[in-house]
Amino acid sequence: MPPARVALYLATAGVLVLTVRAAIFGPPPLGWAVAVGAAYVGLVLAGVLDLRLLVYTDAVVRGPPGARGVVLTFDDGPHPVWTPRVLAILAERGVQATFFVVGKKVEAHPDLVRAILDAGHAVALHSYAHDRFFSLRRTRAVRDDLARGIAVLERVTGTRPTLFRPPVGLTNPVIAAVSDALDLTVVGWTVSGRDGVARARVADLVARVRRNLRDGIIVCLHDAPELGDREPAAVKALPLVLDALHAERLEVVPLATWVP
Ligand SMILES: [Zn+2]
Repeated sequence: MPPARVALYLATAGVLVLTVRAAIFGPPPLGWAVAVGAAYVGLVLAGVLDLRLLVYTDAVVRGPPGARGVVLTFDDGPHPVWTPRVLAILAERGVQATFFVVGKKVEAHPDLVRAILDAGHAVALHSYAHDRFFSLRRTRAVRDDLARGIAVLERVTGTRPTLFRPPVGLTNPVIAAVSDALDLTVVGWTVSGRDGVARARVADLVARVRRNLRDGIIVCLHDAPELGDREPAAVKALPLVLDALHAERLEVVPLATWVP
């Protein structure tokens, strides 16, 4: 079991013990109560914020032990300008990637999703609406959004998606349970280009990826901005990232080799 999940279970047990003890013997010293409460909230939040801790779900965040190569993933598309640009760079270098697409953008640009598939890449789900507050929604809203996203992708591609990356990469027990019920495997990343924000700089993105390059990593980049038409930093950074991979003799491998 992932260490952070063990820590959360232990912390939960600790809170329960303290609660029972307080009921029997009276409240603990205020300092103690605040410290335990803060530690507990910190753990819960860390689990929500960092998928790599695997607190709530057995997400795929890197390759299996001994995996060789690097997996490239792109989020938030498709976009009519930037997705074709990314596809052209990938084609020029002869590498395959996985695109985590947003259902409502797929409805607007189904041809782009077919172009992604025709070029030999994989398509996976990144929710229907890319709701920024997805991790605060109740079960029904999460289920409705994901079911709608699945239906859109199935209609456009002819295949039901099996891989899902939560919007903004946040998870919680609700998202984990709904993903499970819908037979979606949650996929995170090992290294993020952090290019989903407007202030992202190409040089920072390349430096961050280059610093973390090794066998078995999943890299998260963007082929579209979350909203609007701004050019994602990854478009200009991608050739440099691929140069860095080449220099390290790291091959780009399809995600399907790690997640059947
Ligand atoms: Zn996203």
